[in-house]
Amino acid sequence: MMRAIAAVTGGLVVAGAAGASGTAVQGMHDTLSPPVATGTAGVRIEDGPEHSALLLAPAGTVVLAVSSGAAAVEGAQVRVHGSGDDTGLDVEYGGLTDITTAAVVHRGDRLGRVPPADVSIRARLDGTPLDAASLLRGAVDASLALSGDWVRPVDGAVVTQQFGCTPYGFEPLDPSCPSGHIHTGIDLAVPLGTPVRAAMPGIAHVIASTTGYGLHVVLDDGDGLTTLYAHLESVAVLDGDDVDAGDVIGAAGSTGNSTGPHLHFEVRRDGIPEDPTLDVALP
Ligand SMILES: [Zn+2]
Repeated sequence: MMRAIAAVTGGLVVAGAAGASGTAVQGMHDTLSPPVATGTAGVRIEDGPEHSALLLAPAGTVVLAVSSGAAAVEGAQVRVHGSGDDTGLDVEYGGLTDITTAAVVHRGDRLGRVPPADVSIRARLDGTPLDAASLLRGAVDASLALSGDWVRPVDGAVVTQQFGCTPYGFEPLDPSCPSGHIHTGIDLAVPLGTPVRAAMPGIAHVIASTTGYGLHVVLDDGDGLTTLYAHLESVAVLDGDDVDAGDVIGAAGSTGNSTGPHLHFEVRRDGIPEDPTLDVALP
């Protein structure tokens, strides 16, 4: 096995700071730093049992503190009791090997390494389990975005419609918008036939529709991140293909609900659309 599983067991314990309800995570406590260095290869965060997170990474990968505080070592477990900005946040890392943590750690400090066996981590706030996997995935995704691993899906484009609330009634409903409608992606006008590249890696889903998105491709990274490429003239991938960032997946067109050649590009995390310009420089 080239990959070992580091799970976050009983591990990510978030307690006290948000008050008695135990349901809300406030302020700094709702963010965790990435558990591995930006750009570390072969890293995945998966859901473990009972809201724990599984960190899958090659054995020997250095594990970093996702929060700041006082560190205590018990066997293969490290507990970090939050202090400073992380007061109230308690995180436990189970099953580490080669533990080298200092007594007081800051976010990003080295704790130990991923072993050639399972480790586990869990999160609790006032005794209520948190979705540690989701929090850690967000941290890893954010670090990837900042690392510049994203690829611009088309070159030479002109933005004809930004992401966000829109007066156009044909766009999807969003009650939080004054107009009641949201544009869930960004429109990048390009000449017909312009190559469209995968902004991030993923498994391709090819969908042919005569309305809406028209001929479009969704790339699913399997970790909650999807990118979508709509109104294509043609596709260069098959359904189920494993696509790398930068691969040409098709040619820009004007299929579906479109008034001219453009790429409608979308980024979703756990199904929720976000402004693609947060992830990749556009146009
Ligand atoms: Zn659009």
